[in-house]
Amino acid sequence: MSRWRDAVGAIRGPLEFARRSPGAAERVRDLAETLGGACLRAAELWVPPEVAKRLRDAAAKLEAGSTQEILDEVAKSLAPLLAPSFPDRWLSQSVARVPGVGPKTAQALARKEIATVEDLLFFLPRAYEDRREIAPIEKLEVGRPAVFAGTVTRSAVVPLRNGRRFFQAIVTDGTGAVQLKWFRGIQTFQDRLAPGTHVLVAGEVRRYRFAKELHHPDVEILAEGTEPGALPRIVSSYSAVEGLPPRTLRRLVESALRTAADLVDGWLPEATVAELALAEIGEALREVHLPSVGLDPASLRERNTPYHLRLVAEELFLLQLGLELRRRELRQRVTGPLVLTDSDEARARAALPFALTGDQERAWREIRADLARPAPMNRLLVGDVGTGKTVLALLAAAAARAAGRTTALLAPTEILAEQHFETLHRLATPLGLRAALLTGATPPRERGELARWLERGEVHVVVGTHALFSESVDLPRLGLVVIDEQHRFGVTQRRALARKGDNPHILAMSATPIPRSLALTVFGDLDHSTLRERPPGRAPVATSIVPPTAGRAVMTEIGETLGRGEQIFVVYPLVEESEKADLKDATRGFERLRKALPGVTAALVHGRLERAARTRAMADFAAGRVRVLVSTTVIEVGVDVPNATLLIVQHADRFGLAQLHQLRGRVGRGGRPGRALLIADPTTPESVERLTILERSDSGFEIAEADLRIRGAGEWLGTRQAGHLPELRLADLLRHGEYLSAARDAAVQLLAKDPQLTGNPALRAAIARRWGARLDLASAS
Ligand code: ADP
Ligand code: MG
Repeated sequence: MSRWRDAVGAIRGPLEFARRSPGAAERVRDLAETLGGACLRAAELWVPPEVAKRLRDAAAKLEAGSTQEILDEVAKSLAPLLAPSFPDRWLSQSVARVPGVGPKTAQALARKEIATVEDLLFFLPRAYEDRREIAPIEKLEVGRPAVFAGTVTRSAVVPLRNGRRFFQAIVTDGTGAVQLKWFRGIQTFQDRLAPGTHVLVAGEVRRYRFAKELHHPDVEILAEGTEPGALPRIVSSYSAVEGLPPRTLRRLVESALRTAADLVDGWLPEATVAELALAEIGEALREVHLPSVGLDPASLRERNTPYHLRLVAEELFLLQLGLELRRRELRQRVTGPLVLTDSDEARARAALPFALTGDQERAWREIRADLARPAPMNRLLVGDVGTGKTVLALLAAAAARAAGRTTALLAPTEILAEQHFETLHRLATPLGLRAALLTGATPPRERGELARWLERGEVHVVVGTHALFSESVDLPRLGLVVIDEQHRFGVTQRRALARKGDNPHILAMSATPIPRSLALTVFGDLDHSTLRERPPGRAPVATSIVPPTAGRAVMTEIGETLGRGEQIFVVYPLVEESEKADLKDATRGFERLRKALPGVTAALVHGRLERAARTRAMADFAAGRVRVLVSTTVIEVGVDVPNATLLIVQHADRFGLAQLHQLRGRVGRGGRPGRALLIADPTTPESVERLTILERSDSGFEIAEADLRIRGAGEWLGTRQAGHLPELRLADLLRHGEYLSAARDAAVQLLAKDPQLTGNPALRAAIARRWGARLDLASAS
């Protein structure tokens, strides 16, 4: 409940009572007094100035007259303020309504997606500058942020040789002197910083020749006699808004607070607020933007004060409501069920070269049940590398085929699609499923042919990249979409796929185990199945971290492996396929290896290589004609070369743990033990420390949790831009796990009572504003 609603309650009650009990002048007088007081108290809240004015006018009138007519008049003039929708209406007004925001400023804010009063209120500081410690000028350290106070002793505009000018002011405090320089906004500072002005200065100290100076520091003019320490000295810093100096931005946020902070309603149910002992929301907004001097510096830095936590909980609550609404909405969509009869299933299983593992059986039961329903499946299948996800996709495709429907299998890159196609093809053919490949590289003639096959139902599974989902590709009778390596695709792309065809069933697969702490949030709208068990016959890959100086030991290992007739992967990092330096590194490593291993066939594969050359190298490696494959991370997924037993990763510290874990899943697949050498520079101890978990653990889940802990959620997934992780303003999915689950419980409870939130249109609107577009919440917009 916002303070505003409390205050309005205090006005509305007596007002109605007075108007319903006419006559008794005595009573009217009593009530008028109460009412006047209530109006004045409400006017003291952080509300729009025009609102405050109206409340004060009402109080004055009540004091002056106190007749029934005056009560009626006051009631009429306050009616719009007392309407339940008033706060929402005000908060959703254009940000231009905030005092101090002109049209130009509004435009600048709009570029940051700050359109309404509410948006500005919730534009939260990214960090805080603690200015409680004021340093003597002589103690200023170069390269560090500093706060000091002093008097301007001299100031001047200095011409430069190139015709430009700058403004400089010298500030002294009795311990020393320092120069401040401005290269822009010269006039303003010249006017403000006349000699004799007392100032408080904050900024980064730099060195210029033998002196210390600051460029464009933050300067506050101190009135004569002000103790610098008496000023509020924790300053919020916001992400930059182009065209708005930080100081102006702070002032505008302050103005927004004064205008509307007390109108904001928390969305969290009272019970949750009480249970988590959360701060009041208006208070929370004020303290987060304008922290009190007494706040604990550490929790402020961590953005973990009780005030931050209130906003965190609110944010997570909205997110969970959005996800839950989306999940419910999906459940209501209708589609054709894909049913595999018992005998068809038995036949398909008999055609597989192995029996399913226990985990595969369980996951298949879940998938089969989903497919048999007339609502589209929306399931995530998570399983560590090598746990055998593909075969489940295949069985699902068989079910689609039995229903006369096509399956599309989507891989994140061309090379992965090709590799996937090969594997799938082998397994699918005995099941009577015909697979075809379609990527951006497929020539038009083949495309045309494929289109005809699809039309006639002669191809049952199309494997491809997102090219599959371009407008020009028609996928008739699309019944099932399988997304492999789902974490490489953004939420938006996932939604786009779901729109192709007529509500197809969706099976998303990921080898990146999702830590429990994240699963609900990132995939709160998906059901999930998990494969932990590996098919029999695979030992963990023995992993060691090796310094770059251990070249000789590595060569010995290579020699021994080749001596046993086994094959080797050497992997180089390549963040962007266009990064030349990385490519050069891989190329050079490849040449060195070739020199060191005369007579041993080796090949180099990278994303820039032509498809034919790439395919040839891969095929040669798979067939054993190439013994050492040097590559960028393109081998990450899909290649199945049973004879490969040694993996060498260069610059291992540049890979994510989960990615390394996937990479090592490429070796030791053929019954002989696999070995991984992670080459990492021990002079970067944290990253080496991080890698040691790979030596200890073979559990993808454990590794993912560790990676997440160390690197943080956004980095861990590495695809924040792709929209994989919801963009949270304040909440940290990992640190705020407790709030996350409380928010989820509250969301589920609320929707159980009111599935469409019909009883709370404002909340519905808030969810739509915040998450509507991002979650494609058709029904919530
Ligand atoms: P991933 O989950 O990494 O995609 P794959 O589906 O590629 O794993 O399977 C890895 C390997 O394990 C493949 O060679 C596949 O044929 C094999 N495999 C899958 N399931 C089983 C099983 N139940 N028993 C034995 N081998 C299996
Ligand atoms: Mg796979």
